[in-house]
Amino acid sequence: MKDETCIFCKIIAKEIPTVVIAETANTLSFVDIMPANFGHSLVIPKGHYANIHEMPEEITGEVFREAKRLATAVKSAVGAEGVNIIMNNGAASGQVIFHAHVHIIPRFENDGFKWWPTKEYETPTQMQELGEKIKLHLQ
Ligand code: 5GP
Ligand code: ZN
Repeated sequence: MKDETCIFCKIIAKEIPTVVIAETANTLSFVDIMPANFGHSLVIPKGHYANIHEMPEEITGEVFREAKRLATAVKSAVGAEGVNIIMNNGAASGQVIFHAHVHIIPRFENDGFKWWPTKEYETPTQMQELGEKIKLHLQ
């Protein structure tokens, strides 16, 4: 299930060095090379899945269990006041490496990060309609 062109598959295969934090049967956790804040780390499945939609349920569970464990460790290690657990899926969301990964980003009061802007609903019923529409797409 290795993708020869994938940088994260190369990290798993130890062809590219990295700072490994933890390993489970199906996941690897390591320090991000371009951290948003110091302590920024990633959890990835060992198998090559492009994004969350491609990951089997049991692997997704293992990745997110590990993300919680890592978030607790990162927060404590760098004395963070908060932590973002983020997963980009698809280029439109900001994904650059197309091997699924969860970001663990320690956060501090006044660290200067801006969140995305919010929208206002265009009609009084739009919020309800969107909820109903999403329910219909649940599998
Ligand atoms: P994305 O934008 O795809 O969600 O995030 C990719 C992340 O992978 C970025 O935070 C980037 O810094 C990190 N990254 C890219 N290449 C490497 C690498 O070779 N080693 C490590 N440790 N992190 C990497
Ligand atoms: Zn890969």
